[in-house]
Amino acid sequence: MNLKEWCNLDEIVYSAETNEQYLQFSGLEYDKKNIENLSKMKFLISEIFVRSFSEPKILLLSSIENISESVTKPLELKLHDLRRTKIKSENFKFNGKQVNWNNWRQFNSNEKDHNKRKIVFDEFIKKTKYISPVINLRFNKIREIYNNFSDKLKGNSMTSFSPLDGYLNSEKMNLSQLKGLVSEMGQRAKPLFMNELDLGNELIGKDPEYYDDFYFFRNRIFRGIEKYFLKINPVITVKKTLKSIGFDFSRIHFDTYDRPSKYPSPICFFVKIPDDIRVLYKSESPYFNLQSCYHETGHAIHASSIDPELNYWEKYKFSMGVAEIFSILIERLTENPLYLKDIGIIDNKVLREVVLKNRFMELFFVVFYSANSLMKMEFWNKNLSIYETSRLYEKLIKKYMGLEVPGEYWMLHHILPESIMYVPSYMLAAIRAAELERYLTNRFGEKWWREAKAGKKIKEIMSKGERINLKEFSKLDQNIFMKEISTL
Ligand SMILES: [Zn+2]
Repeated sequence: MNLKEWCNLDEIVYSAETNEQYLQFSGLEYDKKNIENLSKMKFLISEIFVRSFSEPKILLLSSIENISESVTKPLELKLHDLRRTKIKSENFKFNGKQVNWNNWRQFNSNEKDHNKRKIVFDEFIKKTKYISPVINLRFNKIREIYNNFSDKLKGNSMTSFSPLDGYLNSEKMNLSQLKGLVSEMGQRAKPLFMNELDLGNELIGKDPEYYDDFYFFRNRIFRGIEKYFLKINPVITVKKTLKSIGFDFSRIHFDTYDRPSKYPSPICFFVKIPDDIRVLYKSESPYFNLQSCYHETGHAIHASSIDPELNYWEKYKFSMGVAEIFSILIERLTENPLYLKDIGIIDNKVLREVVLKNRFMELFFVVFYSANSLMKMEFWNKNLSIYETSRLYEKLIKKYMGLEVPGEYWMLHHILPESIMYVPSYMLAAIRAAELERYLTNRFGEKWWREAKAGKKIKEIMSKGERINLKEFSKLDQNIFMKEISTL
Protein backbone atom coordinates (compact mmCIF):
# COMPACT_ATOMS: atom_id res chain seq x y z
CA MET A 1 0.00 0.00 0.00
CA ASN A 2 1.39 3.41 -0.86
CA LEU A 3 0.80 6.61 1.08
CA LYS A 4 -1.92 7.88 -1.24
CA GLU A 5 -3.89 4.65 -0.93
CA TRP A 6 -3.49 4.73 2.83
CA CYS A 7 -4.79 8.33 2.96
CA ASN A 8 -7.85 7.44 0.86
CA LEU A 9 -8.65 4.55 3.13
CA ASP A 10 -8.18 6.60 6.28
CA GLU A 11 -10.39 9.40 5.00
CA ILE A 12 -13.24 7.04 4.14
CA VAL A 13 -13.22 5.46 7.59
CA TYR A 14 -12.86 8.85 9.28
CA SER A 15 -15.87 10.22 7.35
CA ALA A 16 -18.01 7.21 8.11
CA GLU A 17 -17.16 7.40 11.80
CA THR A 18 -17.79 11.15 12.02
CA ASN A 19 -21.13 10.69 10.28
CA GLU A 20 -22.22 8.12 12.89
CA GLN A 21 -21.05 10.42 15.70
CA TYR A 22 -23.01 13.25 14.15
CA LEU A 23 -26.17 11.11 14.12
CA GLN A 24 -25.59 10.15 17.73
CA PHE A 25 -25.14 13.77 18.90
CA SER A 26 -28.09 15.01 16.88
CA GLY A 27 -30.45 12.64 18.67
CA LEU A 28 -31.25 10.74 15.45
CA GLU A 29 -31.04 7.02 15.00
CA TYR A 30 -27.49 5.74 14.87
CA ASP A 31 -25.85 2.35 14.91
CA LYS A 32 -23.82 1.71 18.04
CA LYS A 33 -22.26 -1.40 16.57
CA ASN A 34 -21.14 0.60 13.53
CA ILE A 35 -19.43 3.11 15.78
CA GLU A 36 -17.57 0.29 17.55
CA ASN A 37 -16.57 -1.37 14.29
CA LEU A 38 -15.43 1.86 12.69
CA SER A 39 -13.37 2.61 15.77
CA LYS A 40 -11.71 -0.82 15.42
CA MET A 41 -11.04 -0.10 11.76
CA LYS A 42 -9.44 3.21 12.66
CA PHE A 43 -7.14 1.36 15.03
CA LEU A 44 -6.16 -1.18 12.36
CA ILE A 45 -5.52 1.53 9.78
CA SER A 46 -3.32 3.39 12.26
CA GLU A 47 -1.38 0.19 12.85
CA ILE A 48 -0.83 -0.16 9.12
CA PHE A 49 0.58 3.35 9.09
CA VAL A 50 3.08 2.88 11.92
CA ARG A 51 4.23 -0.44 10.43
CA SER A 52 4.62 0.83 6.87
CA PHE A 53 5.53 4.53 7.02
CA SER A 54 7.43 7.02 9.13
CA GLU A 55 6.61 10.15 7.14
CA PRO A 56 4.82 12.53 7.18
CA LYS A 57 5.39 12.95 10.89
CA ILE A 58 1.93 14.46 11.48
CA LEU A 59 0.34 11.21 10.32
CA LEU A 60 2.74 9.15 12.39
CA LEU A 61 1.81 11.18 15.46
CA SER A 62 -1.92 11.04 14.80
CA SER A 63 -1.70 7.29 14.20
CA ILE A 64 0.05 6.81 17.54
CA GLU A 65 -2.57 8.98 19.18
CA ASN A 66 -5.33 6.86 17.62
CA ILE A 67 -3.64 3.68 18.79
CA SER A 68 -3.30 4.95 22.34
CA GLU A 69 -6.90 6.16 22.33
CA SER A 70 -8.18 2.87 21.10
CA VAL A 71 -6.07 0.69 23.44
CA THR A 72 -7.21 2.74 26.44
CA LYS A 73 -10.86 2.92 25.36
CA PRO A 74 -12.04 0.38 27.96
CA LEU A 75 -10.40 2.46 30.70
CA GLU A 76 -12.03 5.61 29.36
CA LEU A 77 -15.44 3.94 29.45
CA LYS A 78 -14.69 2.65 32.94
CA LEU A 79 -13.88 6.22 34.03
CA HIS A 80 -17.17 7.52 32.58
CA ASP A 81 -19.02 4.73 34.30
CA LEU A 82 -17.41 5.32 37.71
CA ARG A 83 -18.01 9.03 37.39
CA ARG A 84 -21.68 8.37 36.85
CA THR A 85 -22.12 5.74 39.54
CA LYS A 86 -19.62 6.67 42.28
CA ILE A 87 -19.34 10.47 42.11
CA LYS A 88 -22.76 10.92 43.61
CA SER A 89 -24.12 13.02 46.44
CA GLU A 90 -25.61 11.24 49.46
CA ASN A 91 -27.44 14.40 50.44
CA PHE A 92 -29.02 16.22 47.54
CA LYS A 93 -31.12 15.66 44.46
CA PHE A 94 -31.52 17.58 41.22
CA ASN A 95 -34.69 17.12 39.14
CA GLY A 96 -35.54 14.08 41.22
CA LYS A 97 -32.16 12.39 40.72
CA GLN A 98 -29.24 12.22 43.16
CA VAL A 99 -26.75 14.91 42.21
CA ASN A 100 -23.99 13.13 40.31
CA TRP A 101 -21.05 14.13 38.16
CA ASN A 102 -23.24 14.47 35.05
CA ASN A 103 -25.80 16.91 36.44
CA TRP A 104 -23.41 18.63 38.85
CA ARG A 105 -23.03 21.84 36.79
CA GLN A 106 -26.79 22.14 36.31
CA PHE A 107 -27.29 21.66 40.04
CA ASN A 108 -24.69 24.35 40.79
CA SER A 109 -26.17 26.83 38.38
CA ASN A 110 -29.68 26.44 39.82
CA GLU A 111 -29.09 25.92 43.55
CA LYS A 112 -29.65 29.07 45.61
CA ASP A 113 -28.24 27.74 48.89
CA HIS A 114 -24.44 28.15 48.76
CA ASN A 115 -23.95 25.71 51.59
CA LYS A 116 -25.56 22.88 49.62
CA ARG A 117 -23.15 23.46 46.74
CA LYS A 118 -20.29 23.41 49.23
CA ILE A 119 -21.40 20.10 50.74
CA VAL A 120 -21.67 18.48 47.29
CA PHE A 121 -18.26 19.83 46.28
CA ASP A 122 -16.65 18.39 49.42
CA GLU A 123 -18.38 15.04 48.90
CA PHE A 124 -17.18 14.84 45.29
CA ILE A 125 -13.59 15.73 46.23
CA LYS A 126 -13.58 12.82 48.70
CA LYS A 127 -15.02 10.51 46.08
CA THR A 128 -12.24 11.16 43.57
CA LYS A 129 -10.61 8.19 45.32
CA TYR A 130 -12.87 5.98 43.20
CA ILE A 131 -11.69 7.40 39.89
CA SER A 132 -8.03 8.17 40.57
CA PRO A 133 -6.78 4.57 40.05
CA VAL A 134 -8.41 4.42 36.61
CA ILE A 135 -7.05 7.82 35.61
CA ASN A 136 -3.60 6.68 36.71
CA LEU A 137 -3.80 3.37 34.86
CA ARG A 138 -4.98 5.02 31.67
CA PHE A 139 -2.34 7.75 31.60
CA ASN A 140 0.39 5.18 32.39
CA LYS A 141 -0.76 3.07 29.47
CA ILE A 142 -0.73 6.08 27.12
CA ARG A 143 2.77 6.98 28.31
CA GLU A 144 3.93 3.42 27.69
CA ILE A 145 2.54 3.39 24.13
CA TYR A 146 4.33 6.63 23.20
CA ASN A 147 7.47 5.29 24.82
CA ASN A 148 7.29 2.15 22.68
CA PHE A 149 7.34 4.30 19.55
CA SER A 150 10.26 6.43 20.77
CA ASP A 151 12.77 4.95 18.33
CA LYS A 152 10.51 5.60 15.41
CA LEU A 153 9.74 9.15 16.53
CA LYS A 154 13.16 10.28 17.68
CA GLY A 155 15.49 8.29 15.47
CA ASN A 156 17.98 6.40 17.61
CA SER A 157 18.18 8.93 20.40
CA MET A 158 18.29 7.48 23.91
CA THR A 159 15.58 9.59 25.47
CA SER A 160 11.97 8.49 25.39
CA PHE A 161 9.17 10.25 23.56
CA SER A 162 6.27 11.29 25.79
CA PRO A 163 2.68 12.23 24.99
CA LEU A 164 3.72 15.80 25.86
CA ASP A 165 6.39 15.65 23.14
CA GLY A 166 3.66 14.60 20.71
CA TYR A 167 1.53 17.56 21.69
CA LEU A 168 4.43 20.03 21.42
CA ASN A 169 5.29 18.61 18.01
CA SER A 170 1.79 19.14 16.70
CA GLU A 171 1.66 22.70 18.06
CA LYS A 172 5.17 23.30 16.67
CA MET A 173 6.52 24.63 19.97
CA ASN A 174 9.07 23.61 22.57
CA LEU A 175 8.38 23.10 26.26
CA SER A 176 10.17 26.16 27.63
CA GLN A 177 8.47 28.39 25.07
CA LEU A 178 5.01 27.10 25.96
CA LYS A 179 5.67 27.14 29.70
CA GLY A 180 7.04 30.68 29.53
CA LEU A 181 4.09 31.96 27.57
CA VAL A 182 1.46 30.32 29.77
CA SER A 183 3.00 31.32 33.10
CA GLU A 184 3.55 34.89 31.99
CA MET A 185 -0.08 35.22 30.94
CA GLY A 186 -1.20 33.74 34.25
CA GLN A 187 0.98 36.10 36.26
CA ARG A 188 -0.23 39.15 34.36
CA ALA A 189 -3.86 38.19 34.77
CA LYS A 190 -3.72 37.27 38.45
CA PRO A 191 -3.85 40.71 40.16
CA LEU A 192 -6.56 41.87 37.75
CA PHE A 193 -8.54 38.72 38.27
CA MET A 194 -8.36 39.08 42.03
CA ASN A 195 -9.54 42.69 41.79
CA GLU A 196 -12.40 41.79 39.56
CA LEU A 197 -13.57 39.01 41.83
CA ASP A 198 -15.59 41.83 43.32
CA LEU A 199 -17.76 41.47 40.28
CA GLY A 200 -18.22 37.90 41.43
CA ASN A 201 -19.16 39.20 44.87
CA GLU A 202 -21.98 41.24 43.41
CA LEU A 203 -23.11 38.36 41.29
CA ILE A 204 -23.32 35.71 43.99
CA GLY A 205 -23.78 37.93 47.05
CA LYS A 206 -20.82 36.60 49.03
CA ASP A 207 -17.05 36.27 48.85
CA PRO A 208 -16.09 33.71 46.22
CA GLU A 209 -14.77 30.51 47.79
CA TYR A 210 -13.05 27.33 46.62
CA TYR A 211 -16.26 25.65 45.48
CA ASP A 212 -17.35 28.57 43.26
CA ASP A 213 -15.60 27.30 40.14
CA PHE A 214 -15.17 28.64 36.62
CA TYR A 215 -18.24 26.81 35.31
CA PHE A 216 -20.41 28.05 38.16
CA PHE A 217 -19.54 31.63 37.20
CA ARG A 218 -19.84 31.01 33.48
CA ASN A 219 -23.37 29.66 33.88
CA ARG A 220 -24.58 32.51 36.07
CA ILE A 221 -22.80 35.59 34.86
CA PHE A 222 -24.85 36.37 31.75
CA ARG A 223 -28.24 35.79 33.36
CA GLY A 224 -28.99 39.49 33.81
CA ILE A 225 -28.53 40.25 30.12
CA GLU A 226 -30.09 37.12 28.58
CA LYS A 227 -33.43 38.77 27.93
CA TYR A 228 -31.95 41.36 25.57
CA PHE A 229 -30.76 38.60 23.27
CA LEU A 230 -34.03 36.69 23.03
CA LYS A 231 -34.99 38.29 19.72
CA ILE A 232 -31.74 37.31 17.98
CA ASN A 233 -31.66 34.04 16.07
CA PRO A 234 -27.95 33.10 16.25
CA VAL A 235 -27.93 30.83 13.17
CA ILE A 236 -29.68 33.30 10.88
CA THR A 237 -27.61 36.23 12.16
CA VAL A 238 -24.18 34.66 11.89
CA LYS A 239 -24.94 33.30 8.41
CA LYS A 240 -26.16 36.70 7.25
CA THR A 241 -23.00 38.45 8.49
CA LEU A 242 -20.61 35.93 6.97
CA LYS A 243 -22.51 35.56 3.68
CA SER A 244 -22.33 39.32 3.23
CA ILE A 245 -18.52 39.11 3.08
CA GLY A 246 -18.41 36.19 0.70
CA PHE A 247 -18.58 33.01 2.75
CA ASP A 248 -20.36 30.16 1.03
CA PHE A 249 -22.70 28.10 3.21
CA SER A 250 -23.71 25.57 0.57
CA ARG A 251 -21.38 22.94 2.08
CA ILE A 252 -22.34 23.66 5.68
CA HIS A 253 -25.50 22.10 7.05
CA PHE A 254 -27.16 23.54 10.17
CA ASP A 255 -29.48 21.23 12.07
CA THR A 256 -31.71 23.33 14.31
CA TYR A 257 -34.41 20.81 15.27
CA ASP A 258 -35.05 20.40 18.95
CA ARG A 259 -34.89 16.65 19.61
CA PRO A 260 -35.01 15.44 23.23
CA SER A 261 -31.76 13.49 23.05
CA LYS A 262 -29.89 16.07 21.02
CA TYR A 263 -26.59 17.34 22.47
CA PRO A 264 -27.34 20.53 24.45
CA SER A 265 -24.45 22.74 23.22
CA PRO A 266 -23.77 23.75 19.63
CA ILE A 267 -21.16 21.48 18.06
CA CYS A 268 -19.51 21.19 14.63
CA PHE A 269 -18.57 18.02 12.71
CA PHE A 270 -16.08 17.88 9.84
CA VAL A 271 -17.57 14.89 8.06
CA LYS A 272 -15.54 15.50 4.89
CA ILE A 273 -13.24 18.49 4.45
CA PRO A 274 -14.13 20.78 2.71
CA ASP A 275 -17.37 19.35 1.26
CA ASP A 276 -19.50 18.16 4.15
CA ILE A 277 -19.52 20.23 7.33
CA ARG A 278 -22.40 20.04 9.83
CA VAL A 279 -23.39 22.16 12.82
CA LEU A 280 -25.86 21.04 15.47
CA TYR A 281 -27.75 23.72 17.34
CA LYS A 282 -30.69 23.90 19.67
CA SER A 283 -31.94 26.99 21.39
CA GLU A 284 -31.43 27.14 25.16
CA SER A 285 -29.88 30.16 26.86
CA PRO A 286 -29.90 33.19 24.54
CA TYR A 287 -26.53 34.88 25.13
CA PHE A 288 -24.40 31.83 25.93
CA ASN A 289 -25.81 30.10 22.85
CA LEU A 290 -25.12 33.12 20.66
CA GLN A 291 -21.47 32.84 21.67
CA SER A 292 -21.20 29.12 21.12
CA CYS A 293 -23.13 29.24 17.85
CA TYR A 294 -20.72 31.85 16.48
CA HIS A 295 -17.82 29.77 17.79
CA GLU A 296 -18.96 26.59 16.01
CA THR A 297 -19.76 28.52 12.82
CA GLY A 298 -16.15 29.77 12.90
CA HIS A 299 -15.03 26.11 12.86
CA ALA A 300 -17.44 25.38 10.01
CA ILE A 301 -16.30 28.18 7.68
CA HIS A 302 -12.68 27.27 8.41
CA ALA A 303 -13.13 23.65 7.36
CA SER A 304 -15.25 24.50 4.32
CA SER A 305 -12.65 27.04 3.12
CA ILE A 306 -9.79 24.53 3.03
CA ASP A 307 -8.30 23.99 -0.41
CA PRO A 308 -9.51 20.57 -1.71
CA GLU A 309 -6.25 20.14 -3.66
CA LEU A 310 -4.09 19.91 -0.53
CA ASN A 311 -2.67 16.60 0.66
CA TYR A 312 -4.90 14.63 2.99
CA TRP A 313 -2.90 15.45 6.14
CA GLU A 314 -2.73 19.12 5.22
CA LYS A 315 -6.51 19.24 4.95
CA TYR A 316 -7.27 17.41 8.19
CA LYS A 317 -4.39 17.47 10.64
CA PHE A 318 -4.15 21.09 11.71
CA SER A 319 -3.52 21.50 15.43
CA MET A 320 -6.08 22.77 17.94
CA GLY A 321 -3.98 25.88 18.44
CA VAL A 322 -4.77 26.59 14.77
CA ALA A 323 -8.37 25.33 14.61
CA GLU A 324 -9.50 27.44 17.54
CA ILE A 325 -8.19 30.70 16.00
CA PHE A 326 -11.13 30.96 13.62
CA SER A 327 -13.79 29.82 16.06
CA ILE A 328 -12.56 32.39 18.58
CA LEU A 329 -12.31 35.10 15.91
CA ILE A 330 -15.98 34.66 14.99
CA GLU A 331 -17.04 34.23 18.63
CA ARG A 332 -15.33 37.55 19.43
CA LEU A 333 -17.99 39.30 17.35
CA THR A 334 -20.51 38.50 20.08
CA GLU A 335 -18.37 40.42 22.58
CA ASN A 336 -17.83 43.42 20.33
CA PRO A 337 -20.20 46.36 21.04
CA LEU A 338 -19.77 47.71 17.48
CA TYR A 339 -20.88 44.42 16.02
CA LEU A 340 -23.68 43.94 18.55
CA LYS A 341 -25.03 47.35 17.58
CA ASP A 342 -25.06 46.16 13.98
CA ILE A 343 -27.30 43.24 14.92
CA GLY A 344 -29.72 45.31 16.97
CA ILE A 345 -28.42 45.44 20.56
CA ILE A 346 -28.37 49.20 21.00
CA ASP A 347 -28.81 49.80 24.75
CA ASN A 348 -25.45 51.17 25.93
CA LYS A 349 -25.91 49.85 29.43
CA VAL A 350 -26.40 46.33 28.09
CA LEU A 351 -23.37 46.65 25.80
CA ARG A 352 -21.24 47.80 28.74
CA GLU A 353 -22.40 44.81 30.78
CA VAL A 354 -21.52 42.44 27.94
CA VAL A 355 -17.99 43.85 27.81
CA LEU A 356 -17.46 43.81 31.58
CA LYS A 357 -18.78 40.30 32.06
CA ASN A 358 -16.81 38.88 29.17
CA ARG A 359 -13.65 40.54 30.45
CA PHE A 360 -14.11 38.95 33.84
CA MET A 361 -14.62 35.53 32.25
CA GLU A 362 -11.53 36.04 30.05
CA LEU A 363 -9.42 36.82 33.12
CA PHE A 364 -10.89 33.80 34.86
CA PHE A 365 -10.11 31.73 31.77
CA VAL A 366 -6.46 32.85 31.73
CA VAL A 367 -5.71 32.20 35.42
CA PHE A 368 -7.60 28.89 35.47
CA TYR A 369 -6.15 27.61 32.19
CA SER A 370 -2.63 28.69 33.19
CA ALA A 371 -2.81 26.52 36.28
CA ASN A 372 -4.40 23.66 34.30
CA SER A 373 -1.81 23.81 31.52
CA LEU A 374 1.21 24.00 33.81
CA MET A 375 -0.10 21.10 35.88
CA LYS A 376 -0.50 18.92 32.79
CA MET A 377 2.97 19.82 31.48
CA GLU A 378 4.61 18.86 34.80
CA PHE A 379 2.53 15.70 35.03
CA TRP A 380 4.01 14.32 31.80
CA ASN A 381 7.40 15.90 32.06
CA LYS A 382 8.21 14.83 35.63
CA ASN A 383 6.27 11.58 35.55
CA LEU A 384 4.19 12.56 38.59
CA SER A 385 1.90 10.26 40.54
CA ILE A 386 -1.76 11.22 40.93
CA TYR A 387 -1.12 12.28 44.52
CA GLU A 388 1.81 14.51 43.51
CA THR A 389 -0.26 15.97 40.69
CA SER A 390 -3.03 16.97 43.08
CA ARG A 391 -0.56 18.67 45.43
CA LEU A 392 1.01 20.52 42.51
CA TYR A 393 -2.43 21.56 41.28
CA GLU A 394 -3.25 23.02 44.71
CA LYS A 395 -0.09 25.14 44.56
CA LEU A 396 -0.73 26.33 41.01
CA ILE A 397 -4.36 27.28 41.67
CA LYS A 398 -3.25 29.21 44.76
CA LYS A 399 -0.48 30.88 42.77
CA TYR A 400 -2.61 32.00 39.81
CA MET A 401 -6.10 32.33 41.27
CA GLY A 402 -5.36 33.15 44.89
CA LEU A 403 -7.84 30.53 46.09
CA GLU A 404 -7.20 27.46 48.22
CA VAL A 405 -8.89 24.70 46.26
CA PRO A 406 -8.42 20.99 47.13
CA GLY A 407 -5.97 19.70 44.51
CA GLU A 408 -8.11 16.65 43.68
CA TYR A 409 -10.49 19.00 41.85
CA TRP A 410 -8.65 18.43 38.56
CA MET A 411 -9.99 14.87 38.47
CA LEU A 412 -13.54 16.24 38.48
CA HIS A 413 -12.88 18.44 35.45
CA HIS A 414 -14.33 17.27 32.12
CA ILE A 415 -11.06 17.53 30.14
CA LEU A 416 -8.09 17.36 32.50
CA PRO A 417 -8.35 13.71 33.57
CA GLU A 418 -9.02 12.51 30.01
CA SER A 419 -7.00 14.39 27.44
CA ILE A 420 -3.25 14.30 26.98
CA MET A 421 -2.85 18.09 26.90
CA TYR A 422 -5.51 20.06 25.02
CA VAL A 423 -5.87 23.01 27.46
CA PRO A 424 -2.99 25.32 26.41
CA SER A 425 -4.18 25.24 22.78
CA TYR A 426 -7.05 27.54 23.74
CA MET A 427 -4.59 30.04 25.17
CA LEU A 428 -2.45 29.93 22.02
CA ALA A 429 -5.53 30.38 19.84
CA ALA A 430 -6.88 33.24 21.99
CA ILE A 431 -3.60 35.13 21.46
CA ARG A 432 -3.63 34.43 17.71
CA ALA A 433 -7.30 35.34 17.28
CA ALA A 434 -6.69 38.73 18.92
CA GLU A 435 -3.70 39.21 16.61
CA LEU A 436 -5.74 38.21 13.57
CA GLU A 437 -8.50 40.62 14.48
CA ARG A 438 -5.94 43.41 14.89
CA TYR A 439 -4.55 42.50 11.46
CA LEU A 440 -8.05 42.70 9.96
CA THR A 441 -8.99 45.99 11.59
CA ASN A 442 -5.68 47.56 10.53
CA ARG A 443 -6.35 46.62 6.94
CA PHE A 444 -10.09 46.74 6.56
CA GLY A 445 -11.29 49.02 9.35
CA GLU A 446 -12.80 48.32 12.75
CA LYS A 447 -16.01 47.00 11.13
CA TRP A 448 -14.13 44.39 9.12
CA TRP A 449 -17.18 42.08 9.14
CA ARG A 450 -18.76 44.40 6.58
CA GLU A 451 -15.84 44.30 4.14
CA ALA A 452 -15.82 41.73 1.32
CA LYS A 453 -12.03 42.10 1.08
CA ALA A 454 -11.68 41.07 4.71
CA GLY A 455 -13.75 37.96 3.99
CA LYS A 456 -11.51 37.14 1.05
CA LYS A 457 -8.39 37.53 3.20
CA ILE A 458 -9.74 35.31 5.99
CA LYS A 459 -10.66 32.65 3.42
CA GLU A 460 -7.20 32.80 1.93
CA ILE A 461 -5.62 32.30 5.38
CA MET A 462 -7.98 29.41 6.15
CA SER A 463 -7.53 27.71 2.79
CA LYS A 464 -4.01 26.52 3.62
CA GLY A 465 -5.19 24.00 6.23
CA GLU A 466 -2.25 22.62 8.18
CA ARG A 467 0.15 24.68 6.04
CA ILE A 468 -1.28 27.92 7.41
CA ASN A 469 1.14 30.83 7.38
CA LEU A 470 0.72 32.01 10.97
CA LYS A 471 3.52 34.53 10.60
CA GLU A 472 1.34 36.57 8.27
CA PHE A 473 -0.71 37.84 11.21
CA SER A 474 0.78 36.39 14.39
CA LYS A 475 3.98 36.74 16.35
CA LEU A 476 2.38 34.80 19.19
CA ASP A 477 2.56 38.08 21.06
CA GLN A 478 0.31 37.92 24.11
CA ASN A 479 0.28 41.72 24.55
CA ILE A 480 -2.70 42.44 22.33
CA PHE A 481 -4.90 39.89 24.04
CA MET A 482 -3.67 40.66 27.54
CA LYS A 483 -4.03 44.41 27.15
CA GLU A 484 -7.52 43.96 25.86
CA ILE A 485 -8.60 42.02 28.94
CA SER A 486 -6.72 44.29 31.34
CA THR A 487 -8.16 47.65 30.36
CA LEU A 488 -11.68 48.87 30.63
ZN1 LIG B 1 -13.76 25.18 19.35
